[in-house]
Amino acid sequence: MKILVINTGSSSIKYQLFDMDRQKALSSGLAEKIGESTGKLTHIKHVEKETGLTKVIKETIPDHRKGLLKIVNLLLDSKYGSIKEKSEIRAIGHRVVHGGEKFQAPAIIDRGVITAIKKNIPLAPLHNPSNLTGIEVAKTIFPDSLQVAVFDTAFHQSIPPKAYLYALPYELYEKHKVRRYGFHGTSHGYVAQKAADYLSKPLSELNMITIHLGNGASMAALKNGRCADTTMGMTPLEGLVMGTRCGDIDPALPFFLANHLKMSLKEIDDLVNKDSGLKGICGTNDMREVIEKKNAGEPMAKTALEIYCYRIKKYIGAYFAVLESLDCLVFTGGIGENAQDIRALCCQGLTKLGIKIDINKNKSRGDMGNKTIQINSSDNEVNILVVPTNEELKIALETKELIGSRSRLET
Ligand code: ADP
Repeated sequence: MKILVINTGSSSIKYQLFDMDRQKALSSGLAEKIGESTGKLTHIKHVEKETGLTKVIKETIPDHRKGLLKIVNLLLDSKYGSIKEKSEIRAIGHRVVHGGEKFQAPAIIDRGVITAIKKNIPLAPLHNPSNLTGIEVAKTIFPDSLQVAVFDTAFHQSIPPKAYLYALPYELYEKHKVRRYGFHGTSHGYVAQKAADYLSKPLSELNMITIHLGNGASMAALKNGRCADTTMGMTPLEGLVMGTRCGDIDPALPFFLANHLKMSLKEIDDLVNKDSGLKGICGTNDMREVIEKKNAGEPMAKTALEIYCYRIKKYIGAYFAVLESLDCLVFTGGIGENAQDIRALCCQGLTKLGIKIDINKNKSRGDMGNKTIQINSSDNEVNILVVPTNEELKIALETKELIGSRSRLET
């Protein structure tokens, strides 16, 4: 069975085609700068044990429909493609950022689901409209394939009210659904299951803290395998320090910026989302560059790393208290998977909580490729794992599970 996973942004379409029998990506790519004159489509055909065949097309992509049509042409191409007919694609799994309170699991897309995603636009004004565009376009190009929505927020719907309600007037929640939702749910869910598999234990018997450190960053506390709390909030801005987002700040700070610096709402929005985090402190949002700068002796890069890791360490302590006992700590995302110094700094001094990293095991990540590795000292009780995330595969797996034996014509 083949499943196409699509992640549609306002000017981009990221995709991966999976052969689900082998759980392998056959091809992947990115159409970017859609609607601009400098459009670009990068397509990779994955080849067993080789680097793959890459095709880059630089031409205007006027809209998402044209973008997806170009992608389909490449998927069908005799040299770069992996399928002979569109009908080989049994289903399409769409990443949808905000499912609100309605979706605790993926859903086969029908009119009701589309209406519900539309209803959540106020909660994710930058993402849900693009995700909807992707769905509409895919439906016209693949009329016979099942379409499934997999929500970033769904995994966190098990969070109890004491963790998801803000101490604001309750009617803001009742009337406008103001609450914590959390994001990166696909990644947290994927690495949690991988960690449980690695430890040969049912996920439902494990208390875990999962730490996703990519350009965006978030943590989740899992009690008996279900999410009990997470650091991102009503929007992805809350919680950890990120590439360009500030994470937790005093909620009164925007008033100061408006009153004293005469900044507009838009300027404050841009400041906290696009110009803060690592970039705001030391000038770059790319962790590799931050580490290089720190190694070159730049004091602000060192400070940025300290702030970044301090926030994570603080949440490890908080989530330890939430869970009351901890079986496993999981690092994932581009930074969590690759930056041993960050992992070490986040866990420094936590031996009394049973959290201790083995320096040598922590170094081995680079040799292990795509596998889970265990980096805690053997004499300590909390398993510390590095688990490569794969959000696209998780979307494909959830899509496959949901469609089960349903025929194409049922929806
Ligand atoms: P996204 O959230 O866009 O999926 P990724 O999960 O790929 O992002 O993470 C991107 C981040 O990972 C960047 O800050 C990048 O610098 C960092 N990163 C990637 N490789 C390394 C590495 N070897 N050491 C440190 N940071 C790394």
